[in-house]
Amino acid sequence: MAGDDQNGTPEALVIDAPLYHEMIEHVRSVAPIEGVGLIAFAGDRAVKIYRGTNVEQSTTRYSMDPTEVVAALNEMDQHGWQLGAIFHSHPRSEAAPSPTDLRHAYYPNALMVIISLLTDPPVVRAFRVDGEVREVPVRVLPEEGTAETA
Ligand SMILES: [Zn+2]
Repeated sequence: MAGDDQNGTPEALVIDAPLYHEMIEHVRSVAPIEGVGLIAFAGDRAVKIYRGTNVEQSTTRYSMDPTEVVAALNEMDQHGWQLGAIFHSHPRSEAAPSPTDLRHAYYPNALMVIISLLTDPPVVRAFRVDGEVREVPVRVLPEEGTAETA
C-alpha cells in the first residue's frame, strides 16, 4: 500500500445506516473479544462491510484473519473499491486509539474506526493515522435514499 496516494485517505466515514448497524452488530456479537472488520469505499463513501475474525481472540488486541483480508481486498479490487477503513471494537474502553493500535496501523490510507461498547448506543469514532493522528467526522446517512446509484 505504500506510495499508493492516488485514492488518498478518506476525510470522513460516510456510511448508510444499514451498514453502520451491521458493523455494530458484528462487534457486539463477538464481545467481550475485540471485533474487527474492513469497510470498502466507492469514492468517498462506504459501500460494504467485511466482518472479520479476530485471530488473537483477545479482549484488548485484534488481528484480522489474513485469509479474510486477502479475500476482501481481492473483491474490492474487482469492483474498483478501495479499503476505506478498518474497524475494531473496544469492548471495555473508550473509542480512542491505544498505543498498540497506533503501532499496528499498517494501512495509512484507511481510516481507523473504533467502536466503544462502554455505552449503549456505542460510540463510533474515526481517525486518520498517517504519521499523525487526526479525528475525522462519522456521518451516518438515513436509511431512505440509499440507492447505490447516487
Ligand atoms: Zn484498539
